[in-house]
Amino acid sequence: MATEVDFLIVGAGFSGLVIGQRLASAGWKCVVVDRRDHLGGNAYDAPDKAGVLTHRYGPHYFRSNSQRIVDHLSQFTGWHPVDYKIKSFTDGRYWSFPINLNTFEELIGRPSTAEEFEAWLGSNRIAIDKPANSEEIILAQVGRELYEKFFKGYTIKQWKRHPRELDASVCGRIPIRTNRDDRYLRESFQALPENGYTAMFERMLDASPGLELHLGVDFSEARKRWSCRHLVYSGPIDEYFGRRFGALPYRSLRFESESFDGDSLRARKEISGKKGFWQPAMQVNYPDENVPFTRIVEIKHATGQRIDATSIVREFPKDWSEGDEPYYPVPADDSAAIYRQYAELAARESKVSFIGRLATYRYYNMDQVTGMALAEAERLLKRYGIPNPVD
Ligand code: FAD
Ligand code: UDP
Repeated sequence: MATEVDFLIVGAGFSGLVIGQRLASAGWKCVVVDRRDHLGGNAYDAPDKAGVLTHRYGPHYFRSNSQRIVDHLSQFTGWHPVDYKIKSFTDGRYWSFPINLNTFEELIGRPSTAEEFEAWLGSNRIAIDKPANSEEIILAQVGRELYEKFFKGYTIKQWKRHPRELDASVCGRIPIRTNRDDRYLRESFQALPENGYTAMFERMLDASPGLELHLGVDFSEARKRWSCRHLVYSGPIDEYFGRRFGALPYRSLRFESESFDGDSLRARKEISGKKGFWQPAMQVNYPDENVPFTRIVEIKHATGQRIDATSIVREFPKDWSEGDEPYYPVPADDSAAIYRQYAELAARESKVSFIGRLATYRYYNMDQVTGMALAEAERLLKRYGIPNPVD
């Protein structure tokens, strides 16, 4: 006999836990399941074998322009402010990245000014009225030389597609500046949860007695164990519908990590510039097509963890196939056309909400899925009311 609950929620990432916490705090009984053996989805973090707090599914830099979203999450965590800074490595050297005045000086080999850089860009940019893809949006901003140096190879490796075959939003999300602001991201709030994402999610659960988490449980099993008034699904949408219109394309990744103790790091100080670190920034991108990985992340730069050892993680992009994690939806016309067919079916399911990066097939950041989960919670609270209003 299935146990009755109000909301069954599939996926214990940002989407599932944020919506579950909000619904449970209003008094509804919620069960969240995840087929993985831990919570947090792709934002999960934990110490690795060397004791270094690591983002297990690639680096997760929290950022947001929404005070409402930051305030909501702040109920469950304090913040460790970070100016996320990265570098690019090509032509045998490190470059300031994203492109800014320092990058230009490195290119011409002498000091310069914003005016000179703007003039250079003016004569290198390619006039494109409405950039329609990821190649055009970069060519229109910086011209061919910098596009080929920093974007073309990286994008082909990451997506196994030419930048021309990807939405402009993919490469367009990287800022390009003529001043010396070399932060990787544009948003006004940039910080990591002070004790990590996992700790933040654990506090969400502790704060919500009506929210029950079951790990290592797939949706196919959960639907037998629990019956619900409403289902919230944050897994891949094509999987939900049995891939009846064909599999949506995803990109997956293989992570290769390496740890170093304090002694072996001594020899790296000349390169990293800082005792206890392996490379000069939390992330170094490798745009050359003949290097098989896209980036090396040394997250200790960002977390500020005080520990002698450090760990680096190389990211090797790969095609998604059954059994791999579907890390990235592919923002392109052909995949959007397949997604639209699934979205039409989803719109007809009146007792199911589809939220998050995989169920809406959108290249969304953590703050955006948090916003989506909160909006859907409010919609559901309007629809189903509040069972036990709190005075
Ligand atoms: P997920 O985190 O994917 O969670 C979905 C969960 O559902 C998973 O745990 C999965 O196991 C579970 N699930 C799926 N199907 C089933 C099923 N059938 N049964 C049971 N469980 C199921 N965002 C940022 O804001 N900043 C960053 O720097 C950043 N970096 C990223 C780097 C990488 C490499 C990747 C892949 C993503 C990055 N993101 C970043 C995006 C971020 O991971 C997502 O926005 C966020 O994790 C989405 O949360 P979600 O809950 O929608 O999905
Ligand atoms: N990109 C690039 N060169 C870089 C960094 C990014 O060409 O050095 C492109 C690439 O297509 C990448 C996209 O910009 O997939 C978005 O980069 P971001 O670092 O935001 O990707 P994510 O962290 O989501 O993998």
